Amino acid sequence: MDPTKPLFPTISILDESSAGTQVETGTAEAVAMPRKAGGNGSQPAESSNRSHVVIVGSGPAGLTAAIYAARANLEPIVIGGFTPGGQLMITSDVENYPGFPEGIQGPELMQKFREQAERFGTRLVDSDVHRVDFSGRPFRLWSQGVEYTADSVIVATGASALWLGLDNETRLRGRGVSACATCDGFFFRGKKVAVVGGGDTALEEASFLTRFADKVVMLHRREKFRGSKIMQQRAIDNPKIDVRWNTEVADVLGDERVEGLRLRDTVSGAEEDETMEGLFVAIGYKPNTDVFRDWLDVDDKGYLTVVDETRTKIEGVFVAGDVHDHRYRQAVTAAADGCKAAIDAERWLEAQGIAEVATATAW
Ligand code: NAP
Repeated sequence: MDPTKPLFPTISILDESSAGTQVETGTAEAVAMPRKAGGNGSQPAESSNRSHVVIVGSGPAGLTAAIYAARANLEPIVIGGFTPGGQLMITSDVENYPGFPEGIQGPELMQKFREQAERFGTRLVDSDVHRVDFSGRPFRLWSQGVEYTADSVIVATGASALWLGLDNETRLRGRGVSACATCDGFFFRGKKVAVVGGGDTALEEASFLTRFADKVVMLHRREKFRGSKIMQQRAIDNPKIDVRWNTEVADVLGDERVEGLRLRDTVSGAEEDETMEGLFVAIGYKPNTDVFRDWLDVDDKGYLTVVDETRTKIEGVFVAGDVHDHRYRQAVTAAADGCKAAIDAERWLEAQGIAEVATATAW
């Protein structure tokens, strides 16, 4: 893959400048992607902003929902965000997505999802949804000043990993800096890596990384873990894991790859450099729920709550992927969730007499 050639026409530069906050998107122009011929007979009019299903989000959950909805003749519109493709767009090698025995680059995988969704008549709009009104049907959504209306909505906006906000952390992402041990741990066989954070994610990532790394150094900014007792104990008992209390990362060192970290003692302020070949940032996730919070329920961690797999308290509004799932957070589980949401939406639309069922040919 040519890393200089953008796979998506409107991918904007990520701005990861703010410490401890989610990745912000840029201000690329919204573009409605041209549809491909083929798939089901009836295609949505390109100019129409009305659809049986509007899907918000274009990661594995959103695009899988689109593939299923499009094949069920629901003529979906995907409003996929200024940085479409979700977290896989910032993931290098994906080796655990079934069907790719040699592995695949995250952006390339998402391009394939996208092409598959377009093939069956999905219309993709690469801009963010800024406001929704779910007070009545059709549901109303606004993006870039354009109003979209939908008989049903699938929310698949995902969650964003929090980053430290260091310039070199951003520069070396995918080259030693990662926020996903499950995705990238394999590449650190025999190496010494650091994990930042003191919650369950950090403890879990550290334990997982000991399968590959020779040494895992946990860096926590205070002297007490936040995570569960059992996971703390598991980490402390693991001879491959060292814990550095009261320690934060002041800088990430290395030209082409991570070669070391500048560590700062949070009590004394003293700094020292340490050789390290990887940095896993595990300081939490933020589900992308802001525009839906007036309408949908969230749990105590801020994730959307679902009932009966994909439904919400508003009939006709469905949820898929990481925006409600803080347990598995995998591309394959998000994709499966998108499939479920599309099937549920189709059956609901059919029950309302809004859409003719195409199930026999769709699934
Ligand atoms: P979390 O519980 O919010 O922990 C985040 C950790 O990162 C905290 O230790 C925090 O330090 C540290 N941190 C935050 N911002 C930082 C910064 N800018 N620099 C350095 N350190 C920073 O997040 P999480 O670990 O992702 O867990 C989220 C939820 O998912 C939790 O409820 C957790 O139990 C759950 N979870 C469960 C499992 C499991 O059961 N298998 C696995 C993963 C997650 P402080 O402690 O000082 O605030």
